[in-house]
Amino acid sequence: MKAALKTAEGTFEVREAERPIIPASNFVLARVRVAGICGTDLRHWKKHEPELECHIMGHELAGEVVEVGEGVANVKPGDRVVIETVMGDGVCDYCRIQRYNICEHLYDVRTRYVSRAYAEYVVGPAEKFYKLPDHVSFEEASLIDTFSVCLHAQHLSGLGINDKVAVIGAGPIGLGQMMLAKASGADVIICDVVDSALALAREVGADAVVNSAAEDPVERVKAFTGGRGADIVFECVGGEQMPQTLPQATKMARRAGKVVLVGGFDAGETSIPLEWQRIQMSEISIVPSASFAMHEIYREQGMVLDLIAKGRIDVKKLVTHRFPLDRINEAFDTAERKHETGAVFVAITI
Ligand SMILES: [Zn+2]
Repeated sequence: MKAALKTAEGTFEVREAERPIIPASNFVLARVRVAGICGTDLRHWKKHEPELECHIMGHELAGEVVEVGEGVANVKPGDRVVIETVMGDGVCDYCRIQRYNICEHLYDVRTRYVSRAYAEYVVGPAEKFYKLPDHVSFEEASLIDTFSVCLHAQHLSGLGINDKVAVIGAGPIGLGQMMLAKASGADVIICDVVDSALALAREVGADAVVNSAAEDPVERVKAFTGGRGADIVFECVGGEQMPQTLPQATKMARRAGKVVLVGGFDAGETSIPLEWQRIQMSEISIVPSASFAMHEIYREQGMVLDLIAKGRIDVKKLVTHRFPLDRINEAFDTAERKHETGAVFVAITI
């Protein structure tokens, strides 16, 4: 099969790779149709990481079932599906209570199977395959992973109707966070430094937008919330910006408010000075959120699929660019240079 393999320099080389085979009777083989580029993938772009050389990356994908093991009942060949890529070892204490997003072996297990979107074929256990209704496109389905990350963060935040919410970052995650908060009855202000992303934020429902390079976002959030500060702040930028955005988030939150960490940290120790006394004296909670899994009896990825199918959230507008797999390097470059290209969600068709 054709696959994009990571080079030691952190770009991709599209070439022939071995097609995966069904390893057990509960597994499914699918043909990938659309894969997205996530902020996590972008953080590895052009980074010298020899340990990832020849690996197939990508974890936002939709496709068609090709073959199923004899024990599979939920999908059949020909079904259009979205594939969940959050997958633990299935045996630890956290997997046992369905909190597999924090499984110690998450990375190893998911990258061995389902987290290999930038290739023609992928295998995974049947329970990770969700049948798509006819009116939900592959492209829309490739955004389900992103929105599931947002939905998990929203569940951890306890967000409710009429809450005042600030979102830092108007990339796919920040916009997803905003759209879910709006769908849940909150008032939302969103900050970014890219004007095209903020224009899109308005188009998909933000009540107020702030260009943090031109205006003080903390002052704007204060004004938006009658001087009090936001009930909930979602940090959706992460990476190298975190030393700026996290202190900012703690200043946007009201007393006894919450700051939810959705944007990703880099590995290792990160030093970020915070006004700990003020945070403590005003009882601001800092809530880390990681991927997604279950909410009560519901699978968060299934909930997002349901919201899209019912038209509660219109995810299509976030797709700004499309590239075939052969041009994956161009796709990543476009996503990275979002200031110039206006990229939000870049879809790769396979
Ligand atoms: Zn586990």
